[in-house]
Amino acid sequence: MRKRLFALCLTSSLFLAAWRCPVGSPLEGTIPEDVRSFVSDFSLNPSQTNLDLEFLTASPHPFGSPRQLDVANFLERRITESGGRVEVQEFKADIPNVAALSMPASLTRTVSGRNIFAWPKRFESGPDGGKSCVVLLASHYDSKAVDGISYVGANDSGSSSVALLQLLQHVQNRPLSKQLECRIGFVWFDGEEATLPGWSDGETVFPVKIKDHTYGSRHAAAQPMPQKISSLILLDMIGSPDLRLTRDSRSTPALLKLLEVAVAALGHPPSLLSEFSVPVEDDHIAFLERGIPALNIIDFNDLSVWHRAGDETLRINPNSIEKASRIAIMIALTVARDPQAIR
Ligand SMILES: [Zn+2]
Repeated sequence: MRKRLFALCLTSSLFLAAWRCPVGSPLEGTIPEDVRSFVSDFSLNPSQTNLDLEFLTASPHPFGSPRQLDVANFLERRITESGGRVEVQEFKADIPNVAALSMPASLTRTVSGRNIFAWPKRFESGPDGGKSCVVLLASHYDSKAVDGISYVGANDSGSSSVALLQLLQHVQNRPLSKQLECRIGFVWFDGEEATLPGWSDGETVFPVKIKDHTYGSRHAAAQPMPQKISSLILLDMIGSPDLRLTRDSRSTPALLKLLEVAVAALGHPPSLLSEFSVPVEDDHIAFLERGIPALNIIDFNDLSVWHRAGDETLRINPNSIEKASRIAIMIALTVARDPQAIR
C-alpha cells in the first residue's frame, strides 16, 4: 500500500501544528462491559501465529502468481479449521504487463484474483442467526512483487492475515452475553499491492493508464452484498517491533474516535496512536467511496523494512499483533452491538 505522507508535515512545525488532530477525552462507557470481557479473553496463540506466518512467508506470493493460489487454499483450510464458512469471490483484473516495456507485447495482462470471505458459523443460524447487517474485519493477503529481492511480506501482509484467523476462531467460539445487532464477517483481499514499483506508477508513468492497486477491495466494494455493511475495519502492517498506530485521516471520523476510546479502554497510553493525521491509501478507500464507514488500523510509522528484504517473520512482534487485534475486535463488536452509534 502507499500512504501519502505530506512532506511538509515532516519539515514544518507550524504546519504540524495546523495538522494536529483534535484529541478528545475518551467517552466513558462507550465500550459495553461484555465487549470488554470478550476482548480481554482474546490472546494470540504464539505457536499458531508462527505456523501460519511460516506458510505465508515461505516465498513471495504476489497477485496473480501460482503461489498466491496456494496461499488462498491455505487460508481456506485455516478458516474452516477456525469455525468459519468459506466464501471465495473470484475476479479477473487487467494489470500492467511489465514485459511490454522491453519487448513487443500487450501492455496489459489479465490475471485471476480471489477475495476470501469467512463467515463464523455461529451467525448462520440459531440464536445468533438472522442478522441484517455485518461488520467486516479485513486484511490483504498478497505480498508485493519487489524487483531484485525475494520479498515475503511478513508484516505486510502476513501480520494482519494471521490476526484475522485467530480473531475468527475467538468470535466463533467465545459466547457473548448480549445479542449483536450485526454479525461479524472476515475478508482477506487479493491484489492490494501495486504490481509496478510505485503505488501510482500505473496512472502516471505506465503507457496504459491503469489504477494499479487495491484490485480485490475495489472489486469487492462494487459487488452487491446480501447484508448491509455497517463498517469495514481494516488491519494492515500490525506486527512491527514497537507498535505505533497511524492516525489515518481518510478513515471515518466516528471510527477514529472509537479507535481512541478502544486504545484507552485497553489500558494503552495515547502515544500508541501517532499524534498527527496522515491520509492513507489502502483497501478501505473503495468502501469509503461507496459510503461505507471504514477504519484503517495500521502502523505506517515504522517503515525501515517496508517492501524491503528485512520484512521477515523474525522481526514480527506477536505482542503488536495481539494489541492491534484486540483493538480491532473491540471496535468491531461495539459497532455490531449498536451500528447507529457511529452514524
Ligand atoms: Zn505493501
